[in-house]
Amino acid sequence: MTGAKGIEQELRAALEAYLTSYLTRWDLQKAVALFSPTIHGVGTGHDEFVPERRVFLEIYERDFRQAPNAIVWEQSRLQVAVLSDTVGITTCELHLHTQIQGQEIHLNNLRQSLVWKRHESGRWVIEHLHISFPSTEHGQDESYPNKELEARNRVLARLVEKRTAQLREALEEQRQLANTDRLTGMNNRPRIEELASTEFLGAQRYGYPVSSILVDVDWFKRINDQHGHLIGDSVLKAFADIITARLRAVDHAGRWGGEEFLIICPHIGIEGALALARGLRETIAAHPFPKIGPWTASIGVSQYRPGETLQDFFGRTDAALYRAKELGRNRVEVAPNGP
Ligand code: GH3
Ligand code: MG
Ligand code: MG
Repeated sequence: MTGAKGIEQELRAALEAYLTSYLTRWDLQKAVALFSPTIHGVGTGHDEFVPERRVFLEIYERDFRQAPNAIVWEQSRLQVAVLSDTVGITTCELHLHTQIQGQEIHLNNLRQSLVWKRHESGRWVIEHLHISFPSTEHGQDESYPNKELEARNRVLARLVEKRTAQLREALEEQRQLANTDRLTGMNNRPRIEELASTEFLGAQRYGYPVSSILVDVDWFKRINDQHGHLIGDSVLKAFADIITARLRAVDHAGRWGGEEFLIICPHIGIEGALALARGLRETIAAHPFPKIGPWTASIGVSQYRPGETLQDFFGRTDAALYRAKELGRNRVEVAPNGP
């Protein structure tokens, strides 16, 4: 036979002969006789990158040891390419069935391509062999495992989102802790100072009044001495709760020291602050504290003077409180040298 059609027929027959001797008969000598001396290629195994004929023989022998029974095979999708009178390619899918250690084994969709060359003798020999399985790493209709990557990315994005939220929460919790007085749950001193400076800046820039109210529990030491520190602590907590309950939404309160509390009241001048302080003093004096009964506090009030240092301002507020103590306690006083 001559021409491309004839060559195609020859290649089909050569492929058939190769598959029959290799798979059906396990006639390795006959199969290997179809290899060119310079054959090379790749198989499906990790170690099956084969540079020379000798290695093919080793692999074929290993194949035979591991699957000694005859292999029933079907072939599909055969393509024959005739490149010249002396070179052709066969590409097909193989479906193999055999028994290994008493178990049915099916290997489907094994892809095989062979490059054939016509030998001087006229015989076709295999120059190159390549077999592969469809990769399970890829999804359907994909060149790359995109769907899997997308799914993995979604999982990662969710994880990152969750971790970020957790971190944000933890950070907020830390911030809260760093700003909070443990015993009373109020702002601590650094935080109340920070809030005060912010309000004073606003007062300077926009000209609104800011006042402060400093509350000091009277004779607090006696509570500790007579009832112990734990009762002392619970009284401090009760004072903190009373003060917090009276605040407007815009006011800031914090624990200033041991038994002293500071309230910063933006947008309130000295008169308003005095009224607030007096109401607070009355509420405290009327409160039935558990264990110790009625108790009192002294209060100093002052209004921020734009331009004065924080130290001066708090000094004046403290002086007002001192005066309240001096004048007999359970009183509200304004700083002696004016608001
Ligand atoms: P005054 O009317 O002059 O203010 O008298 P005082 O006893 O309230 O004032 P003083 O400054 O002599 O005593 C305050 C006490 O508050 C001393 C300190 O042991 C106590 N103290 C400070 N912090 C705490 C606390 O967290 N828990 C308890 N239980 N006591 C505290
Ligand atoms: Mg004190
Ligand atoms: Mg005191």
